[in-house]
Amino acid sequence: MDCLFCKIAKKEIDSNTVLETEDVMVFKDIDPKAPVHLLAIPKQHIKSVMEVEKLAGGVLEEIFESIAKIAQDMDLADGFRVVTNTGRGAGQSVDHLHFHILGKRKFAWPPG
Ligand code: 5GP
Ligand code: ZN
Repeated sequence: MDCLFCKIAKKEIDSNTVLETEDVMVFKDIDPKAPVHLLAIPKQHIKSVMEVEKLAGGVLEEIFESIAKIAQDMDLADGFRVVTNTGRGAGQSVDHLHFHILGKRKFAWPPG
């Protein structure tokens, strides 16, 4: 399967990794939309939230624990955003589940 984030997870493509566990990777977005813009992914390929039942037990929890640890370490806890665009209508461009972690700027609500 030709999936960009699977290649990043297997280190076939370089990424600026900030955290890695057996099941999870967090790396810098190549086109940042905030001073801090990271992507958290399961190494296991699933397309989006819509396939979350296929994800191995505990991985989703591990992703969110990784996000919380990064927010703590990077001093984001006062205001950061976790986003998962799902489907083309919401702007999903890579079909491998990923959570954007955005921080260090002001955020509007509702999002655009
Ligand atoms: P989406 O548009 O699916 O919500 O998010 C995909 C994200 O992947 C985008 O923010 C885009 O900048 C990022 N991206 C696309 N290609 C690469 C790449 O090769 N390396 C990294 N680190 N990020 C990428
Ligand atoms: Zn993939």
